[in-house]
Amino acid sequence: MISFEKAQRLIGENVPKPKKIKVSLANSLGDVIAEDVKAPFPLPIYDNSAMDGYVLRSCDTRSASQRKPVLLKIKDTMKAGDYPTRPLSTGEAYKIMTGALIPKGGDCILPKEEALVKNGCLIIEQLIGVSRHVRRQGEEIEKGRRVICKGAVIHPATVGVLASFGLECVKVFVRPKVSVITTGSELIPAGQELKPGKIYDSNSLVVSSILKSMRIEPVLIQTIGDRKGILKRTLKRAFEKSDVLILTGGVSVGDYDYVKEVLAQFGVRTIFWKVSQKPGKPIYFGRKGSKLVFGLPGNPASVFTCFYEYVFPALRRMSGFCNPYLHREMLKIGTQIKPDRRKILFLKGKTELDGKKKTVIPLSRQGSHMISSLQDANCFILIPPSRKSTKEGQKVRVDLLPAGNGAL
Ligand code: AMP
Ligand code: MG
Repeated sequence: MISFEKAQRLIGENVPKPKKIKVSLANSLGDVIAEDVKAPFPLPIYDNSAMDGYVLRSCDTRSASQRKPVLLKIKDTMKAGDYPTRPLSTGEAYKIMTGALIPKGGDCILPKEEALVKNGCLIIEQLIGVSRHVRRQGEEIEKGRRVICKGAVIHPATVGVLASFGLECVKVFVRPKVSVITTGSELIPAGQELKPGKIYDSNSLVVSSILKSMRIEPVLIQTIGDRKGILKRTLKRAFEKSDVLILTGGVSVGDYDYVKEVLAQFGVRTIFWKVSQKPGKPIYFGRKGSKLVFGLPGNPASVFTCFYEYVFPALRRMSGFCNPYLHREMLKIGTQIKPDRRKILFLKGKTELDGKKKTVIPLSRQGSHMISSLQDANCFILIPPSRKSTKEGQKVRVDLLPAGNGAL
């Protein structure tokens, strides 16, 4: 049996390098960018007006005063999107709208709110400084500057930056293709009548929901009984279709836990089986070529914990994330905990703000077959194996679940 840390490390070492693909910018949200992007041109691309008003030449206003105003002839109007047909000459002004290109010769803007207009002329009573209310070419981003680094996650604002450069496509890391196979002869899908001895299957929906929250649409979702034949047929299809196989149930030591045996027949090499942890001890991880296989123990809390601690980082690493793990914090715990002597405990926990101090409390209903308290959980509390109790107020490691328990 190996430790949690070793299990995470072994998975990290076996995850294949992320692959790249070009996608349309419109569909890139949440992806990890696979290339540095440099500005193909400056932003703004040309000098333009920051205000609705009048564009003029600052030097024309040098002698202007209230006693001796300067009159400038309003010659034309520049709408956003217009291109001037002639430069602005001495003694002239153009009406101009926000975002419109500054015509040659013009170098400052008098906002509409400050302008005095009479008989088609602008009456200037003071000096208007050069560059006033002008957005200068390249003032935000110079041509050639790196605007996005490889490895960055594409947020709506990132899409905005790339769109400003007119980019239609962007190179990102491909999300892996994932199959979800749920095993257990006791499982009944929703909508069917529950017979004695049977239970409704929740794992397949939990796993595919977490995948959806990661923007991974499973290529195959199948729930099957504990029978070798159907397991073989399902695995065959899953290997053909996917990079990662996630199985739940059937990896423990029960007489009908066939998953490991059948995987071995498919040539899957066992990297590890069993981790000293609770819940989720019988977790299996194997590899066939570049394809990864996770066998998660069927108890719902085991599935949830093992997914977030092992599968989630592997899938994120394959999708190009530099920091694939759950975000980790050290927080004071609100109650005393009795650790296990040999296994690390993953407790369903909730962080709380006490004034300015953040603490964490374990929730009730910690059993590995219990899933209901996970609804309120926003973290796992990790209690390492020990003989000594973890005292109230002691700092413990907390692995935070994604915001909104993954639903956002
Ligand atoms: P196993 O890992 O197959 O030994 O299953 C361990 C426990 O988890 C058993 O009590 C199963 O009934 C339960 N279980 C397995 N698969 C599911 C599932 N898909 N949904 C809900 N409970 C399950
Ligand atoms: Mg089972």
